[in-house]
Amino acid sequence: MPPLLQVENLSIAFNNTPVVHNISFAINAGETLGLVGESGSGKSATSLALLRLLSQSAQTTGNITFSNENLLTLPEEGMRRHRGRSIAMIFQEPMIALNPVMKVGTQIAEAYTAHHPGESRNMIKTKVLEAMLAVALPEPERRVYDYPHQFSGGQRQRILIAMALINRPQLLIADEPTTALDVTVQAQILNLLKEIRRTHDLAMLFISHDLAVVSQIADRVAVMQKGRIVELAPTETLFRNPQHPYTRKLLASAP
Ligand code: ADP
Ligand code: MG
Repeated sequence: MPPLLQVENLSIAFNNTPVVHNISFAINAGETLGLVGESGSGKSATSLALLRLLSQSAQTTGNITFSNENLLTLPEEGMRRHRGRSIAMIFQEPMIALNPVMKVGTQIAEAYTAHHPGESRNMIKTKVLEAMLAVALPEPERRVYDYPHQFSGGQRQRILIAMALINRPQLLIADEPTTALDVTVQAQILNLLKEIRRTHDLAMLFISHDLAVVSQIADRVAVMQKGRIVELAPTETLFRNPQHPYTRKLLASAP
C-alpha cells in the first residue's frame, strides 16, 4: 500500500527567503508521525503547505501526494474537498479558530454542513451531539447554545477537535495542540488525542516543539532543525539510538 501522504522535496520560501529546505516524509494510513523542532524551525509552514494555506508571499515547491492526488497542483476546488474533510487541522490557540460571536453548536454544525449540504436538521443535530460526546464535552444538549468564551481553554481545544473529527478525516494535522494549555490540561488533551488515535481510523501529523510530548503519541518522529529534517526514525529507535547531534541535544534537554 502506498502511504496516505507522501511529501517529497518540499521547499518553502517567504519572499524568496527559504525557510523549509527539501524535506521528505511519508505518513501511512492509521499512523501517527511526530514532527518536532524548536520554534521557527518550519513546522507550521510545513503543515500549512500540506493544505495549501500559506500566504501569497510563500513559494512552495516539491511534491505532496495525498490519496494519489498531487496537492500542489490540484485545482483549488479539489483542495476545498480535502480541507476539513479528508484532512483536518487543529491549532495551538483554539480561540483564533473559533468565532467568538457564534454559538458553539452552530460552529460545529457548520464544520459538518460545509461538506454535507442538504442534510436534515435532525441529522445535523445528532452529528453535533455525537461529536461533542466523542471529545467528552459535558452536557452537550445544553452547551450547544453557549459561546466560546463560556468554555475553558481545554474545552475550547475539545470543540476544535470535535469540529476536526466530525467529517471523519483520514488525516488529522495537530499543530502544537497542547502548547497553549496549562500542564494538567495538556495531559488531558494528549490523552484524548491518544484515545482518538485508537478509536478512529485516522493518521495524524502531530507537531510540537516538545519531544517529550511528541514521543507519547507518535509511532515515528521527524526531527526538524532550521527547515531541514535531520532525522526520522521510529520513536523508540530515536530514543535508544539517536543519530544526529541535534536529536541528542533535544533528548538531553528533555525532562
Ligand atoms: P515553527 O512552526 O517551527 O515555529 P514556522 O513554520 O512558523 O516555525 O516558521 C518558520 C520560519 O518561517 C520562521 O523564520 C518564520 O519567521 C517564517 N515565517 C512563517 N510564516 C511566515 C510568513 N507568513 N511570512 C514570512 N515569514 C514567515
Ligand atoms: Mg509553529
